[in-house]
Amino acid sequence: MKISDIYNKKKSLSFEIFPPKKDSELENIDETLKVLCELNPDYISVTFGAGGTSNCNRTIELAKKIKYEYHIEPVVHLTCLHYDKSEIDKFAKILIDEEIQNILALRGDKNPSIQEKGVFKHASDLITYLKSKHDFCFLGACYPECHPESDNKINEMKHLKKKVIAGTEILLSQLFFDNEQFFSFVEECRIADINIPIIPGIMPVINTSQIKRMVTLCGATFPERFQKIILKYENNKKALFDAGIAYALSQVIDLLANDIDGIHLYTMNNPLVASKICEGIRNII
Ligand code: FAD
Repeated sequence: MKISDIYNKKKSLSFEIFPPKKDSELENIDETLKVLCELNPDYISVTFGAGGTSNCNRTIELAKKIKYEYHIEPVVHLTCLHYDKSEIDKFAKILIDEEIQNILALRGDKNPSIQEKGVFKHASDLITYLKSKHDFCFLGACYPECHPESDNKINEMKHLKKKVIAGTEILLSQLFFDNEQFFSFVEECRIADINIPIIPGIMPVINTSQIKRMVTLCGATFPERFQKIILKYENNKKALFDAGIAYALSQVIDLLANDIDGIHLYTMNNPLVASKICEGIRNII
């Protein structure tokens, strides 16, 4: 099933998970998947490590498991910066053979230790190439607070529009902690005549190492209300978990009350996090 079909009918609920580390068995993720799938998401997206074929294999194996053992539609993330056309062709063929129809097409982060192939410079190049050959449903990434490499908002919007024109049908957002940033971004997209579903990505922050990573990596604004919560509970694991869930839940309820098209939860492979959020919105979504 193509994910785009969902949005004509309802708001979506979806989760992101990542393949377990190389030396860990894929079966180890079953406990997580059982809980996630019982929450009845519309789809589960599976991340993709940059560079190297073993990363692709893990992503595909996990996506197959989700589709054929748990009967939930998978979305496979695919980055392009470190691959050439023949590698992308191979990947597309496997997806077609496995009847996996949904790709989150990504450029991938620049990494000086992995050689860029110079064929696909942006996610839009990947979409244009694959769309000319195959019939996938393409999702794309978007950044309510701008991509870290972006020089200005106007160019960022122009590039996003290019990605949509190339064939993106749904946008999944980078995580954010200030809903106003997301609402403004959606408004700017609509002004730019980007009219496809824009799904907010929400990551409940439940431990301090996660907070540090967020600050360095994604550059999301930490609203004062959120900063106070972190400062107050950073040394109390259980309290931080409760507070992080409550904060994310308040974001989700506010988003749903404002008629967004769905919710995408960055689960960090933690089924309890997804359960708690879903429990809080079971009569809402
Ligand atoms: P692009 O859309 O190519 O944009 C990247 C930058 O280039 C932006 O600044 C944009 O403005 C600019 N740009 C775009 N087009 C042009 C153009 N034509 N000319 C000039 N500049 C242009 N990474 C992984 O490695 N694996 C994952 O599984 C993964 N999953 C993700 C899931 C989500 C929902 C999100 C939001 C991100 C994910 N990422 C993942 C991270 C992503 O790979 C990085 O953020 C990456 O740096 C940008 O990818 P993109 O597809 O957004 O790139």
